Amino acid sequence: MVQIRIGNGYDVHQLVADRPLILGGVEIPHALGLLGHSDADVLTHAIMDALLGALSLGDIGHYFPPSDPQWAGANSLELLTQVNQLLEAQGWQVGNIDSVIIAEQPKLKPHIQRMCDRLATTLNIKPDQVSVKATTHEKLGALGREEGIAAYAVALLQSS
Ligand code: MG
Repeated sequence: MVQIRIGNGYDVHQLVADRPLILGGVEIPHALGLLGHSDADVLTHAIMDALLGALSLGDIGHYFPPSDPQWAGANSLELLTQVNQLLEAQGWQVGNIDSVIIAEQPKLKPHIQRMCDRLATTLNIKPDQVSVKATTHEKLGALGREEGIAAYAVALLQSS
């Protein structure tokens, strides 16, 4: 019998000058980028936490602590590969992922399909198993003032 598990993830990073804006492994042209120890790919971080959460394996801070210089500037897709290997080693595979990015700026629609493609390739699944949506925060609060970008993700895993 196929077993299923579900997990959710959330992350937020500050927007600052002189940093690249990387979301779902795609570098997006913008005046500001996300601040963080790694490449600060907030979408990929939320997805990793959803995957780990589905198997009650803790969170990404446990596996890739910001205090460890090994992860400075890390490509988050490489971290996602490691998380996927952890799932596969335990006999699980991703059924589907649904996610939403909250960003006042820039407009993300032109980049969404590339994010899905990159994430799916990294997870050895088809692009239609990954959903990435984007919304603004309607100018409300810190996200609405473009002080940061947040992301939510839900992941369904199935035993293989
Ligand atoms: Mg993060």
